[in-house]
Amino acid sequence: MRHYDTRNVRTELPCHNGAHSPPSSSCSIAGAEVEPLKLLNVLGVIQKSAEYLAKRGVDSPRLQAELILAHILSVPRLQLYLDYSRQLTTGEMDRARELVRRRGTREPLQHLLQSTSFCGFDIEVNRSVLVPRPETEILAEKAWQFLKKNFAGGGKVLDFGTGSGCIAIAIANHSPEAQILAIDISKEALQLARTNAEKNKVAEKITFLQSDRFTAIPPESKFDLIVSNPPYISKEEIPSLMPEVREFDPILALDGGDDGLIFYRYLVKEAALRLNDGGKLMMEFGDGQSLTLQHLFGKDGWKVDSVLEDYTGRSRVLVASRR
Ligand code: GLN
Repeated sequence: MRHYDTRNVRTELPCHNGAHSPPSSSCSIAGAEVEPLKLLNVLGVIQKSAEYLAKRGVDSPRLQAELILAHILSVPRLQLYLDYSRQLTTGEMDRARELVRRRGTREPLQHLLQSTSFCGFDIEVNRSVLVPRPETEILAEKAWQFLKKNFAGGGKVLDFGTGSGCIAIAIANHSPEAQILAIDISKEALQLARTNAEKNKVAEKITFLQSDRFTAIPPESKFDLIVSNPPYISKEEIPSLMPEVREFDPILALDGGDDGLIFYRYLVKEAALRLNDGGKLMMEFGDGQSLTLQHLFGKDGWKVDSVLEDYTGRSRVLVASRR
């Protein structure tokens, strides 16, 4: 795991080339001395921003600079190079400076753009929710395929720890008859999840409920499918996470207790009481947790149906059912 120390990140603002700057001073968008910013065109901004971000340890700095600029100019990224000599306006420069500066503090790109794509759906994000990750799309897809095949796109579903609502929203779109209960301990997360459901036109298909694990769910409620991407980072590992994750994803969404497995141990007991006959539990888990979880869900009346890999070939999703 990579270790970054944000305490060493310089925080000087990329400066204006305006009345506040002495006439002879040069400005920086990229931490390097450059000509006054008013002279920058698209290519210049990309280059200087990429240098600035690279110095601050940002991964794929040029791509990040391009995505920020494409966002500001409201064009597809590749379009930037079709008009690379276009001068930016002062307003565009100001916005570029501000977003590049924020990215330099390691704030995630998705926070700067305020949204991300999950299974093709636009999901708004903020500091109250985990930024949806591509590997979680594998879990969502497995979930809606199960509902399509076994419940004709219906069925009762629980999204345990819904965060931004991304999984529930993707399922609701692909399984239009499903009744979905999406729970989270965080009121702020639920608020955003509801907004996301409204924007994606599935709000009437999902019930949002603030609940610390199962505590607020009526005892008689049972489900055909329980999906979860629970917090699974061990306490020990949290300090070594990338700053984008450690400083900007909510700790509630990351912290899986001493060994990262606290929610799986909870689900092994409690989800057993909440599944209908023929129901399934589908969970994402962290790199390296596969064997422990297969062991945990290989006993006490559970059986492991499958373990799915992410796009890099790592085991990341476990599907289990009652024996
Ligand atoms: N279910 C949400 C997601 O997968 C939130 C997960 C979490 O907060 N751990 O993005």
